[in-house]
Parts: sequence; structure tokens; C-alpha cells
Amino acid sequence: MLHGLCGVDNPQAKCMVNGKCSKCFPKEYRERTDWAEDNYPLYARPNNGLVFECNGARFTNQYVVLYYSQLLLLFDCHLNVENEIKAHLDGRFIGPIKAYWKIFEFNIYRESLAVQRLPIHLPNEHYVNFHAHQTVNEVLARQNVKKTQLTAWFDYNFAYDDGLSLIYWQFPQHYTWNAKVKLWHPRQHARIIGRMYFMSLSKGE
Ligand SMILES: [Zn+2]
Repeated sequence: MLHGLCGVDNPQAKCMVNGKCSKCFPKEYRERTDWAEDNYPLYARPNNGLVFECNGARFTNQYVVLYYSQLLLLFDCHLNVENEIKAHLDGRFIGPIKAYWKIFEFNIYRESLAVQRLPIHLPNEHYVNFHAHQTVNEVLARQNVKKTQLTAWFDYNFAYDDGLSLIYWQFPQHYTWNAKVKLWHPRQHARIIGRMYFMSLSKGE
């Protein structure tokens, strides 16, 4: 990971404050790792002639941001190891309750998924919500009144073939329901699971 060019090479860089890089880049070359007076390590940045070129800019060891390769591989994201470990050490407090929680390996976080309820009904026998003051004709004249998640699922599979391998309750994992226009769309981000209302076979049609 490299700090973008700054200092005399790029005085307009975002990190520049009063003509100096606020993160103190480019760092001085250093043949071996030492401890500074403030107890921060001064990591080795040998002047070994290695240069990395990116978008026309040339980076040396002076621009390498501290990293811990195993953590980077594990989390596959930006990690500023120096600051975050210090914040963790400064901020942590392990009292008896926390120690007990960790010893017994209880979860320290909770995950929950959104659940989409999927209606099941025979043709034209779905639920319709309406206000008490509305007449039957008004309700029936409403746009898309005959559409439900179930009928829209049939419609989607009639028009497109990308969801044909999924059965109804699996559909919300990959498609999102737009209740306003009553259409399914391919899902971009969040995960969700679908659950159908229970229907006993013994009830018949
Ligand atoms: Zn900088």
C-alpha cells in the first residue's frame, strides 16, 4: 500500500497542510527498524533503488504505508495497522465480565438477516388491503391490484430466464421486491431470505 505522491512532488495533495504532509510522507530512508523517542517504531525503509511506477508517478520505499501482510490478505481491505492497533490498546478494558465472556467463547457480535414474507394464494384469491371509506370499485380500479409477489414471480420468470433455477422462497436472495410498482428486480447488495406462509396439503385448494 502506498501513500499518494505529496510534498514537493505534489503540493496539491489532500494530505498537505500548511505546505507539509499531515501524515509525514515521504518518510526518511532508514536501513533498519529503530524505536523513536515517543515509543513508535521507525520502520526500515532501505534506499535500495526499488521504484514502483503507477499512473506516471514513481514511488520508492519512502511512500510505503505501514502494513501487516497477513491481516491484509485475511480482510482484503485497507488497514492502517499502526493507528488502529494503538486505538485498540488504548481503548480496551477487560473486566471480569468480559474475561468470562471470552473464556466461554460466547459471540461478541450478532448477525441477523432481513426476512421477506412470501404470500401463497390461488388465482385471484390474494389479500387486498383497503381503507374503510373505499368502495369495492375504487379498490378494484387500483393499479396492479391483481399483482402480488407470487404473480410477479411468475411474470418475471415468463419474461426472463435468469431466475428459472430458483424456487419461489429462494427468489428474494437474488431479487428485490419493489412494492410500489410490484415488480422483482435483480438484487445488487444486501442479503435477505424468503419465507413462505405455511400451507398444509391437507387443506386442499
Ligand atoms: Zn502526504
